This record gives sequence, structure tokens and C-alpha cells, in this order.
Amino acid sequence: MKRRILAVVEHPGDAEEPHFRHPFRQDGRARVPVALVRCAEYQPDQVFRALNEAITLAGGIDSFVTPGTRVLVKPNLLQGLPPERAVCTHPVVVGAVIRLLKEHGCTVTLADSPGAGIRYTPTSLARQYERAGYEGLALDPGCVLNLDADSRLVKYPEGKVCREFFLISPFFSSDHVVVVSKAKTHVLTLLSGATKNVFGLVPGLEKPLLHSRFQTGERFGDMLVDLNLLVRPSLQVADAIVAMEGDGPTSGSPRHLGFLLASPSPLALDMVLCRLMSLDPLDVPYLKCAIVRGLIAPDGRDIELLGDPLPPSMEHPVRKPGTYINHSGSMPVTPLFRAVHTLGSLCAMRPIVTHQKCTGCAKCATICPARAITVSGGRARISLHRCIRCYCCHEMCSEGAISLERSLAGSLLYRVMQACGWAQGKKGHPLS
Ligand code: SF4
Ligand code: SF4
Repeated sequence: MKRRILAVVEHPGDAEEPHFRHPFRQDGRARVPVALVRCAEYQPDQVFRALNEAITLAGGIDSFVTPGTRVLVKPNLLQGLPPERAVCTHPVVVGAVIRLLKEHGCTVTLADSPGAGIRYTPTSLARQYERAGYEGLALDPGCVLNLDADSRLVKYPEGKVCREFFLISPFFSSDHVVVVSKAKTHVLTLLSGATKNVFGLVPGLEKPLLHSRFQTGERFGDMLVDLNLLVRPSLQVADAIVAMEGDGPTSGSPRHLGFLLASPSPLALDMVLCRLMSLDPLDVPYLKCAIVRGLIAPDGRDIELLGDPLPPSMEHPVRKPGTYINHSGSMPVTPLFRAVHTLGSLCAMRPIVTHQKCTGCAKCATICPARAITVSGGRARISLHRCIRCYCCHEMCSEGAISLERSLAGSLLYRVMQACGWAQGKKGHPLS
């Protein structure tokens, strides 16, 4: 069945002959490889075997990283929560990537800037590594955990919406970046995979500044695509053994999927993650932006899936975040679409503080790009009038003190949208 979205997205692709510009393809192949390998649990030998197989299928470690070079391994550290929370990339997966790179003769620096509510300082970094279970990764020679909290500005004149970025220092002293992401749903971007993970190379409080500059999903998505084109990671690995569903990237629930993925392209990998998690890539703003820019095909025809077959369809699709509204996937652009889009914004969820849980730590106030949060008397308060619904505070609150709720009018409207099939949609995926 023809997907109506093809009429909405003005991508430059041809219906028969794919000629998408593949910025992350390195070997001139017609299609971008994405390897999918089953891995049931975080048992170190099992994970290492699966990782080795995935990277071999995706082109072999030689095609991504030169022996003897310096590699920045970028996990999803977020705010250093224990592995069982499924917030951070599991340390066993990160460890397997480091082992593979070291066996390839590389030296490794593990580096990430946690969420902006967390201070980007050596002391704070050391604490996040410990909490995430990464401490032991530096016990062997050849791998260091970055404690350098400096950053530098880099110009990117080719950017579509963002032409300069502050990036953390280890980026400038590395020959390659290897992204090791965690498969999660996300209250702002619907999916947090390889492409979104690169945002962690932006240091501390520069993140809310970018949220403030790029407030809509499309603008933020274009900024993420610009950032990936600038950074050009050499290899992507995704930990989808236990993913996160619901109100990710912090407050969702662990969900066992049982896969590791590898690819040279963050966009292609995220397209396959969408299929695994039963998400429509056109509902993921940064993937939609990449499709519009002709960087990836909307129907997956430029992806070569290797390894284990994708499950035919998930019997139980991952739970989407409560913020999910199907703005684009199933409706043609008509006045009705525009009206629903506007109404959808009106019924967007609002961050609400549960004062009994709030410790007054002020991480949320630090990160808020709209300066909508104040903390007094040991409790946070949010000005909904100022709030731009970026949900960074929800992401950052490790106490679970910020919930996302709709107003009464918003809830009623949302139910109408659900009844019309415009919220929590049940659409198929182009790679099905
Ligand atoms: S809501 Fe309270 S506990 Fe949560 S980040 Fe803000 S100040 Fe800290
Ligand atoms: S209060 Fe609003 S603008 Fe501020 S971080 Fe939370 S969601 Fe974003």
C-alpha cells in the first residue's frame, strides 16, 4: 500500500533508482549495511562474539578504524545510572567495543558529556562513570576514561541550521569516533539511537542553549543531522539487548529486545532501530529531516540488512512516550493536518513537579533553556507560561520528581486525536 507520507515529504529521491547522498557510507556500496545480531543477555563472551559478528558483517573493523589510531568511544552516559535502569549503554557492551578496538591496536578514550543538569567537571565525570559501571573499563592499559572537561568551538559552514558547535576536547585529539548508543524511546525525539547520541559531544550547558535555539522537533532534528555530518562517526554500535520504552530517555521502563546492531551510518542504524521498536521513522524528527535532505530513503530501500532477520513484526510494540503525537505519519498535509498539528501543540504534555519527591538539587533549573524553573525552599517550581516543552528537566531529574501531564482540555483533545488514529498510531514500518 502506498504510504501517504511520500506526498508530504519532499525528498529528492527517485521512485525507482535510489540516488540518495550517503554521507556515512565509506566503501562505495550501493546500499548502507546495517548488521543485526541476536544477543540474549549481557554475558561478556556472548556480547563480544555478537559484536564481532555484527561489525564483521557491517564491513569489518578494518573498514572503520585504522590500527594504531586514537579512538573516542562515545557511550550514552546521560546521568550515570546503574545498568539495570537501561538508561546508559550497558558497560558490558561498551567493554566489548573497547576490547575489540584495543585488539585492533587502537588506544581508546571513553568520553561523553552527561546531560546538562549535571556539571561537566572532572569530579562529576568520575562519579557518573562509577554509577554507570564504567569504572573497571580503564583497568587495562590502552583505555582511559576522559576527565578533561574543556571544550572548543568548531565552525561548520556547511550546516543547514547550525554552523558552529562547541564540542568536548577529546573529540579534537581523536582520529575516530565510535558511537555506542542505547536504544530508547525519547519524550522529545521519540527515538534515542545513534544519531541522537552524538548530542553528548556538546558539553554541559551548551546543550540547553541549543534546545533554546532549536525549539521545534524539525529544527532540533536538523541541528542533530548537522552535528552528525560534522562529527562523522566512523562506526555505530547500538545496545538493543535491553532497550527502554515509555518516557525515555531516563524515566521509561527496560524492555528486552535481544539484539546488537552495527553500521557505518547513524541514520541507517536508527531506521532499523525504528523497525525493531515498531516506530515510524517519519515520526522521529531527525530521521524525517534526514529524509527531506536526501540523506536516507524513507522506505529503507538503500539499507542492506545483514545478519539475523528482523522479527516479522513485534507482537508487543514498545510503549511510546506519553508525549507522542502522530504529527505526520498518516495524514496528508491539508488544512485539517495543519489544524491538528496546532491542536497537537496545545495538548502537549506539561512538566509538573511532585514536591514530595523533589530534593531541591536544582539540576532541572540548571538545564532549563527557557529559565522556567526556580528552586526555593528546597523545592522546584515551573512556570508553564515560559516552558517551551523541551522535557530536558524530565530527562535530568533522577528523583522522578517531574512527571509529564496534560491539562484537562489537552487530555480531552488527545482522546479525540487517539480516536481519529492520530495519536499512538499503529502504522507499519517501511522495512517490514
Ligand atoms: S525536580 Fe527537584 S529533584 Fe528533580 S531535578 Fe528539579 S530540583 Fe532536583
Ligand atoms: S520547564 Fe519546560 S522549558 Fe524548562 S526544561 Fe522543563 S520542559 Fe524544558
